[in-house]
Amino acid sequence: MANNLLLILGAFLLLAAAAVVWRLAGWNARTRTETLRRFLDGLGRGEFRAARPGEFAGAWETVGSALTDASTKLAARIEHLADERDFSAAVLTSMSEGVAVVDNRERILFANAAFTDAVGSADDCRGRPLLDVVRHTSLIEAVEGALRTAETVRGEVEFGTVRPRTFALTAAPVASTAARGVVLVLHDVTEIRRLERVRRDFVANVSHELRTPLTTIQGFAETLLAGALDDPAARRKFLEIIRDHAARLGRITDDLLKLSAIEGGSMTFRMEPVRLPQLVEHCIEAVSLKAKARGLEIEGHAPESLPLVLGDPLRLEEVLKNLLENAIQYTPAPGSIRLTATAEGENAVLCVADTGIGIPSTDQQRIFERFYRVDVARSREAGGTGLGLAIAKHIVDAHQGRLRVESELGKGSRFFVSLPVCPPEPAAAPEELPAAPQEAVPQQPTEPTEKPA
Ligand code: ADP
Repeated sequence: MANNLLLILGAFLLLAAAAVVWRLAGWNARTRTETLRRFLDGLGRGEFRAARPGEFAGAWETVGSALTDASTKLAARIEHLADERDFSAAVLTSMSEGVAVVDNRERILFANAAFTDAVGSADDCRGRPLLDVVRHTSLIEAVEGALRTAETVRGEVEFGTVRPRTFALTAAPVASTAARGVVLVLHDVTEIRRLERVRRDFVANVSHELRTPLTTIQGFAETLLAGALDDPAARRKFLEIIRDHAARLGRITDDLLKLSAIEGGSMTFRMEPVRLPQLVEHCIEAVSLKAKARGLEIEGHAPESLPLVLGDPLRLEEVLKNLLENAIQYTPAPGSIRLTATAEGENAVLCVADTGIGIPSTDQQRIFERFYRVDVARSREAGGTGLGLAIAKHIVDAHQGRLRVESELGKGSRFFVSLPVCPPEPAAAPEELPAAPQEAVPQQPTEPTEKPA
């Protein structure tokens, strides 16, 4: 009986223990599952952290270390992607080309500063319909074409009215899994187009300038051959015309070669300190006969106290002679021409002033362009090539100087050449006296070297 009782009690105790173990195990698993859920929630929110000690104990420890590992790798991967995104954004933002991304409903998803600036938009164009920002038909057509055909469309557009700028345009379709759209790239080609135009004009101008003397030479040579050779008076006259036009051709080609040497950087400048009074005197001497022959007064003035300028004396003389010859050419008698030199701060300024016909204000900046003349017939008649001032400007520029004009129609012109003065010579160090033998010189009481404050 007692044995049976013991057996029943034992069995009961066993069942009770089993129930307790069962409950405890269930409770433990729920706690761990909850910890795991919290950890994963954290990962979802971007909290990439390692499992804390004891957070996953016992059999769950391997789960904890796997989660720590995954969390570290995810953090590194996300950081890498963020770096890449920031880098791409920085590249696009700092590009000198205008870049914009437009979606398939023609709404701007991205636009860098260069794009905003090119299309003349006052504020950020992101999120706005393209048509609101740009009213340029060819640009809109390019975007629509790229969306419709899924092919890259290229073209050229011009923006701005006051200071028009030309852009090469590329509209390239993009189709990603997320969206379909167009990447627009605007490349500023204003300067390239300007240079092309300058080159075209230059070729046309040169051909035109050469054609006139060539036609004249050919015409008179044919007239001579056709019989004028037998007429001594006509022969001489025609030959003189041929000589003058050949000389003109020579002047044009000389000036063109000089211009191309300066522009190509092959012209040599022998820089040395130049004394302006001498320079002024030489130039006045060189043209005074011509001026007097035309009934013009001419004088030069440059104080001896003027600082030296660093320059090539021959090239500077060429510039001043050209300005003086122009002054003589465009000043009717009675009139006067003055060449003066003054010091102005860091510069010395040479001024050629005349009391001549003057230059209209609209032409004043253009006279430094190649072949630009205010009065073409007058310049040609005087044997001018229209290149003198262009060459002079290049030479002055090569001296880090500046050539400019002030003029009033009917009253006269003043051409200013400002040149930087030579830097002052460094003061010579005081010569050291050889030390005298101690016994020969009586010791003097030493003077304090510093003045009292
Ligand atoms: P050009 O050989 O025709 O003189 P330049 O280049 O020296 O060529 O000068 C360009 C133009 O500038 C001249 O054709 C002339 O119309 C104008 N010009 C230059 N200097 C003067 C001046 N002192 N007075 C009036 N017009 C001038």
